[in-house]
Amino acid sequence: MQQNTSSKKIWLCLLSFAVILLIINFVFFHQKIDLIVFLAFILSNIIIFAFLLKFYSNKILLTQSAGEHHQEEINIIDVENKRNQEYNLALKLKITRYDNLKKLIEDLNHSLKLDIVIRVLSSNVYTLISNSTGVALFYLVDNQYQKLNLVYSIKDDSDLVVLSKEGDIFDQWVLRHSSQLIIENLKNDFRFDSDSINMQNMRSVSSLISSPLISNYSLLGLLRLESKKGGFFNQDDLRFLSLVTDLGAVALENSLLFQKTQDLAIHDDLTALYTRGYFIDRLRAEARRAHRLDQHLSLMMIDIDFFKQYNDKFGHIMGDLVLKKVGILLKDALSEFNPLLCRFGGEEFLVMLSGIDKKKSLIIAEELRQRIQNEKIMLRRQDTHITVSIGVASLPLDTKDEDELVQKADKAMYTAKGKGRNQVCSI
Ligand code: GH3
Ligand code: MG
Ligand code: MG
Repeated sequence: MQQNTSSKKIWLCLLSFAVILLIINFVFFHQKIDLIVFLAFILSNIIIFAFLLKFYSNKILLTQSAGEHHQEEINIIDVENKRNQEYNLALKLKITRYDNLKKLIEDLNHSLKLDIVIRVLSSNVYTLISNSTGVALFYLVDNQYQKLNLVYSIKDDSDLVVLSKEGDIFDQWVLRHSSQLIIENLKNDFRFDSDSINMQNMRSVSSLISSPLISNYSLLGLLRLESKKGGFFNQDDLRFLSLVTDLGAVALENSLLFQKTQDLAIHDDLTALYTRGYFIDRLRAEARRAHRLDQHLSLMMIDIDFFKQYNDKFGHIMGDLVLKKVGILLKDALSEFNPLLCRFGGEEFLVMLSGIDKKKSLIIAEELRQRIQNEKIMLRRQDTHITVSIGVASLPLDTKDEDELVQKADKAMYTAKGKGRNQVCSI
């Protein structure tokens, strides 16, 4: 078609050329040349021109199509080049990530502490996958209630507040399915109901990846990365995240077991209050701090009155229930003072009140004594009551030495016993 129009144009040119020559001849040579010869001359010229033009126009068309063909090849090479560049970049990224895995494993092996393990896992994926943008969230599973607890977060926006401390619908999905989740663009993902997402008053999230930490068939937690940008994460990112969570699950399980063992070692199994050894360690540290900062520190030694009789009357198991109840009462009554509570022995409890002077602690102790006296303890469908004797001693008023402080509180408690029990005394 294109060839047809171009040859038409050529013929039109030739015709115009012949007419022009004819006009020139008439105007300038005044018919001096014989018309037949002139026409023959014109015709032969036209034939030569036509041949030459046809020849060159074909050549031009051939060159044009060869040019187009080369351009196509250049375009293909360009696309391939771009693809190769992208592939190289992705490969470089992969190499960097996998190089960092070695360091991550070293870091994980370095500590059994739960908070360090969680921080190492979260910060590594946040840097290596998210390029330190968006949000990283780490949840631990509370097996007792089968719910999630947000324990660590990293955000590029310090004003952003993560409201869903127990996870949102995406985290619940991972918890329910025990499997990884990728949302490349939330707008196009029909697995999640957009109405319920809006109802949850979610922060702006367009894409996310999330992977559970599973060890011995038990889901321990999940690690999630999110971005405001759609299409920020791809399958490679998810693969790397799940590799990290697979490695992290073992470290996490070890650190959870380690923490549990530590917890057991420092907590009394009946009352869940601290044990004597741990309490004394903390007392030493707190006493040093109080000296340094010139602050007060008070101790209350609490002993249940006539507990042996109580045991004899209601039985040892009921006595245990009373000890538990006293533990809860102490926590509840003293919570505003941020106390350190310990079961010092049998039916004796020791309380440390940091930053509280002797005068104030005597008032607190008296209120506590009254509260315990007034508390109804139901045993065998019978209302029972207990009373306590409390000894109070304070730093730096009574002594500057923490061991002597414990002795003084104990002595004060025995003074209360001596004075008839159910009272607060100090030395
Ligand atoms: P006081 O007013 O002089 O303190 O008299 P008390 O009977 O409380 O003191 P005593 O030292 O004579 O007896 C303490 C009792 O506490 C004896 C023991 O049966 C009881 N006791 C100690 N540890 C436990 C425990 O773990 N469970 C129970 N049920 N009783 C305990
Ligand atoms: Mg006692
Ligand atoms: Mg007693």
